[in-house]
Amino acid sequence: MSTIRELESGTHESVYEVTDPACGLHSIVAIHNTTRGPALGGTRFLAYGTFDEALDDVLLLSRSMTYKAAAADLPLGGGKAVIIGDPTNVKSAELLEAYGRTINEIGGRYVTAEDVGTTVADMEVVRRSTRYVSGLPLDSGGSGDPSPATAYGVLAAMKSVAEQLNGNRDLHGMRAAVQGVGKVGGALVGLLRAEGCDVVVSDVRPQAAAAVAHRYGVNVVSTDDILSQPCDFLAPCALGGAISAETVPTLHCRAIVGSANNQLTHDTVADVLVEAGVLYVPDFVANAGGLINIADELKQGGYDPGRAAATVSGIGRSVRTILCSAAESGTNPLVAALALAESRLH
Ligand code: NAD
Repeated sequence: MSTIRELESGTHESVYEVTDPACGLHSIVAIHNTTRGPALGGTRFLAYGTFDEALDDVLLLSRSMTYKAAAADLPLGGGKAVIIGDPTNVKSAELLEAYGRTINEIGGRYVTAEDVGTTVADMEVVRRSTRYVSGLPLDSGGSGDPSPATAYGVLAAMKSVAEQLNGNRDLHGMRAAVQGVGKVGGALVGLLRAEGCDVVVSDVRPQAAAAVAHRYGVNVVSTDDILSQPCDFLAPCALGGAISAETVPTLHCRAIVGSANNQLTHDTVADVLVEAGVLYVPDFVANAGGLINIADELKQGGYDPGRAAATVSGIGRSVRTILCSAAESGTNPLVAALALAESRLH
């Protein structure tokens, strides 16, 4: 039997802590804003050190989802959930079903999907107890794993950055450093190589880095060295917080365009990047491809891969608009992207 307790929040519409000791479920569901529609956001299953660490993460992630949906002009709000624990030890069908019952009780204000530590197959299990779940397998009429679409959106963003830097969208001969070669990073490496881009990768899981290196013929560097690689694009595709005021002086990239959520330790780091001459594409703009793909599943008639891909490629146009707006108003791209999203929330 799960217990749902509402937590105080001055910044979010609702924050719920869910516990079910019988199956080991300990989760937080954060609904940031539903002005534009139901709060769609994935479930992150992670072995957080403390409850507060998990709470901070879900509050930040759900806020980003609001801005991501608004910047992509989707009829969705922003929310996110975390399940606390190591998924390799704690995850079970019983736990996922109990979690689904919680989502169901929230009654459609929050719609979940997969994220770090959860999979499309897990969402099928969650669906046994709620219909408020998306990102279902393709053979169930869903949109499948969102990661390839996220990678495609990052690529579209990079092409617009190339246009800004070089005057054309050709990535041939450019160099990218990809931090984290999981579901998105791995797919991104494949897309970049197909464009003729030179790539270097790193991952805390050496076997994952080695597999991608072998498959695409790219070099591997240590996790300590990836941020300082001389390159055109640094693509953070691991966890958040890779770029801080302390790490900026060590960067040797022209632009940062990646999939990780909350790449900057603080919004003010966007100004530090401008001073350092590094062009930053806000994470919630660059990584919206997966959300756009999943949102297509909720349209009348269900998922249409062609329509979804065309919408994802629109990320390139959004990046152009944001970079132009930042240049015209003398702000950084993060401020410009937040202003665009805010204007769509009111
Ligand atoms: P994933 O778990 O499949 O991949 C993350 C990879 O990063 C793993 O291989 C992991 O070993 C590696 N990693 C972790 N810490 C690292 C470090 N310090 N240095 C190098 N590698 C490290 O996750 P994913 O689905 O590929 O997502 C990657 C990022 O993109 C996450 O931040 C996620 O929230 C974000 N994102 C993903 C999607 C999606 O569609 N999957 C959509 C939007 C945003």
